[in-house]
Amino acid sequence: MENKQHEKMIIIGSGPAGYTAAIYAARAGLKPLQIAGYEPGGQLMITTDVENFPGFESTIQGPWLMEQMRKQAENVGTKVMNDLVSKVDFSKRPFTVETDGGKSYTADTVIISTGAKAKWLDIPSEKKFQGFGVSACATCDGFFFRNQKVMIVGGGNSAVEEALYMTNHASHVTLVHRRDQLRAEKMLTERLLSHENISVIWDHVVDEIIGDENPKKVTGVKLKNVKTNEMQTVAVDGVFVAIGHTPQTDLFKGILEMDETGYLIVKPGSTETAIPGVYAAGDVQDKVYRQAVTAAGQGCMAALDAEKYLQTL
Ligand code: NAP
Repeated sequence: MENKQHEKMIIIGSGPAGYTAAIYAARAGLKPLQIAGYEPGGQLMITTDVENFPGFESTIQGPWLMEQMRKQAENVGTKVMNDLVSKVDFSKRPFTVETDGGKSYTADTVIISTGAKAKWLDIPSEKKFQGFGVSACATCDGFFFRNQKVMIVGGGNSAVEEALYMTNHASHVTLVHRRDQLRAEKMLTERLLSHENISVIWDHVVDEIIGDENPKKVTGVKLKNVKTNEMQTVAVDGVFVAIGHTPQTDLFKGILEMDETGYLIVKPGSTETAIPGVYAAGDVQDKVYRQAVTAAGQGCMAALDAEKYLQTL
């Protein structure tokens, strides 16, 4: 325990926020240590085509983009480790970070970019067609369903926003909700219910997503009425699961301020948490925008905020 390796900066997580923070911090000469997790790359690793990350004239692949970000971070001087942080202590300085792999570090600053995970329905057919017609992000993948029929699952703001967004692309949008009342805000709900290209199926849950094997694609969804148990099949080409996200903040419970849904709280317009020297960037603190490019922007902000703080030590 006495021989902890000391770092100026430790970055936890390896999505666009973490890698961007790493690139900026490394270029500022801070030699950051990035603890990337066991499945590095974040949510873009389960996306296929990416067309909305600026800088690429043609479609790129999510996993490829993350590989490039990692190489870029490493090339400018980041030490990236595939290990998982198991414990942090921000109560005294320097901070302490321990990993699953048995390593223990001290650090002057920590950037948290552990992201959020989309909630899934957890049925086998959903997993089978992920990336082949099943997605958890309409803004990312909606464009691929031009003039096709899609289904949105969920009843919150995200589901309603995704349904409205999909009317820009799809020929028809069906929203399926497990109750007979939406959780979404009134104004969004009214827009949804009055939209001529959206139909809503109440009191139904997804029983199975059905599709073809070769080429692999979704052709429809089997729905179950939760009140009568009656089944019906709706023909669609795509399914967007929008039943919420879970920020990955278990590690920081009781240590950092969170809102009631577990998102880390930062000072408005910055990435500062309530503990000077600890910063949060990307989906772990942002439940509104949740885009790779906004997460990357916040990663940059976190590195700049941390750099400024280090100058005061
Ligand atoms: P949410 O508000 O938690 O809504 C999740 C929805 O999915 C609920 O309608 C829920 O049904 C349904 N659901 C959950 N698990 C399900 C399952 N296993 N099967 C079927 N349906 C399921 O999540 P969200 O819409 O992602 O929003 C998260 C937070 O971000 C909210 O605070 C929201 O206001 C905020 N947000 C804000 C904006 C905005 O301000 N523009 C946009 C997006 C999100 P029940 O209703 O029956 O529980």
